[in-house]
Amino acid sequence: MKPRAEFSVSDDHKGSAPSHEPMQGARKSGREVLISGCGIGGLAAALAIAATGAKVRVFEKRKDPSEEGAGIQIGPNGTRILQDLGVADALREHVAIPEALQVFEGRSGSRLNAMPLGPWLADRHGAPYWVLHRIDLHKALREKAEQHPSITLQLGVAITDAKTTADGIEIFSDGQLVGTGNLLVAADGLRSTLRQKLFDAGELKYTGKSAARTVIARSEVPDGIPKDDVAIWLAPEGHVVHYPVRQGRELAIVVIRNTTTPDEGWATQVEPEWVLSAVAGFANPVRQLISASSDWRKWALFGTPAFRTWRNGRIVLLGDAAHPILPFFAQGAVLALEDAHVLAKELASQSEIESALEAYSRARLPRATTVQNASKRNGEIYHMSQPMSLARNMTLRLAPPKQLMARYDWLYGWR
Ligand SMILES: Cc1cc2nc3c(=O)[nH]c(=O)nc-3n(C[C@H](O)[C@H](O)[C@H](O)COP(=O)(O)OP(=O)(O)OC[C@H]3O[C@@H](n4cnc5c(N)ncnc54)[C@H](O)[C@@H]3O)c2cc1C
Repeated sequence: MKPRAEFSVSDDHKGSAPSHEPMQGARKSGREVLISGCGIGGLAAALAIAATGAKVRVFEKRKDPSEEGAGIQIGPNGTRILQDLGVADALREHVAIPEALQVFEGRSGSRLNAMPLGPWLADRHGAPYWVLHRIDLHKALREKAEQHPSITLQLGVAITDAKTTADGIEIFSDGQLVGTGNLLVAADGLRSTLRQKLFDAGELKYTGKSAARTVIARSEVPDGIPKDDVAIWLAPEGHVVHYPVRQGRELAIVVIRNTTTPDEGWATQVEPEWVLSAVAGFANPVRQLISASSDWRKWALFGTPAFRTWRNGRIVLLGDAAHPILPFFAQGAVLALEDAHVLAKELASQSEIESALEAYSRARLPRATTVQNASKRNGEIYHMSQPMSLARNMTLRLAPPKQLMARYDWLYGWR
């Protein structure tokens, strides 16, 4: 593992992005942009849109919107945008750069493939594959937003409704008008209030799977577990993913398993036995790894409602509000970063706000749908049972690792 993250320098990504200067070609419009939600998507959108010269107000329902302890993987299509947002330098000391994505058959513990990440992927796409703690990512984005003279964060205000007017937007919290502006970005997460109220979106559907997560110290990691790479252990009853965070001083672990009832929250405390029983049939090192933590949080995995558009008047959806995604491709937050980048670009280049929002929706919906479907398909492949799993394992064993990884150029090479 390389301890420091370096970007390959391409013409459009030299050095750190200027943080408080309007982006090149941006209209100094004096636009007032409202954002509901201070997660990774809302903060990235605030920074990207503020760089177009707009004033941004972010409303967050929680009084303290800090992240829960968990890891996150950010592929080159996301780290490139973090660089543009000017937060990459602050993050460098917190990230690890894994050399490979190792794939194991969970029950036997035999390795099926080790696809290259590290310098190989960074050279290929001009930006690295990072793994880090979500707290560090959220904190870097939030601090950057707090320092920005054109961004205001308003905590403890839930946006429950919005109305497009003749020339702008009004937003409400429990019936009270709390803001007016030129447009509203609904980045209020998986259970988006604004999506369910103002968009023609179906209900979220529980997948019958839940995830449990924890983070442990490197010293707690048992022998037989790769400490510096991303590793995934596959089995029909579920899978285990782990990767280093905080420059390899800690290991983030996620266990996906079948369950019958979904939880409401994102951080329900769960007994270690619930997690251990999910890996009862797994190889010994995996069971030891799962035993190493007694602090597990779980959350339920939901399928996607169908969408025709992400725009309603002067309101657009962004991040999980727009595209709830199963976590089998590690792309939910990365898609939110891509959304933020495209929305800011359209706002900077178009004089009509509604045209810009429409162009954003048209550009992003197909991309997000492709990634959502690919993620779902990944889950099916991970959880195959015999005889399909035998064919999968054979393919993975025989496939040249670089060739396998190159199949994801469409994903990581996005610009
Ligand atoms: C198991 C698992 C693993 C994952 N791993 C990865 C990974 O490795 N890489 C990756 O890219 N993605 C990953 N993801 C996905 C990623 O976590 C999400 O896609 C991402 O955090 C979404 O960001 P967001 O800002 O859209 O939503 P959120 O982070 O949910 O933020 C929404 C914010 O809006 C606030 N809010 C809600 N309602 C209101 C309201 N009415 N008014 C005001 N504020 C409101 C919330 O409090 C919250 O702060 C994973 C997800 C799961 C489930």
